[in-house]
Amino acid sequence: MKDQFTSRRQFLRRSGAAIAFIPVAALTGNAFAAINPGMRTSMKYQDTPLGDKDCSNCIQFVPGKTAKDLGGCKLFPGDTEISPKAYCAAWVKK
Ligand code: SF4
Repeated sequence: MKDQFTSRRQFLRRSGAAIAFIPVAALTGNAFAAINPGMRTSMKYQDTPLGDKDCSNCIQFVPGKTAKDLGGCKLFPGDTEISPKAYCAAWVKK
């Protein structure tokens, strides 16, 4: 009988993929919240604006229910915790 994970490398690759999308639900109690730490790091995401540049005036931002609620970003798949007052290196004026 063949093992589900045919190699140690394959097991580690799958484990890493599972960890890449750490559900924030365990931390915040929000059942649908999640972050994308890989994209946040690579795009130098920060929770504060850079001057007058922030997510709320970026073309990539997907707003939450209200203007102050957390939303998403078209460039950060699976991330539902993007602050409208945050900023990253991929900012483009709306
Ligand atoms: S690209 Fe960056 S600045 Fe623009 S919405 Fe996404 S996280 Fe915010």
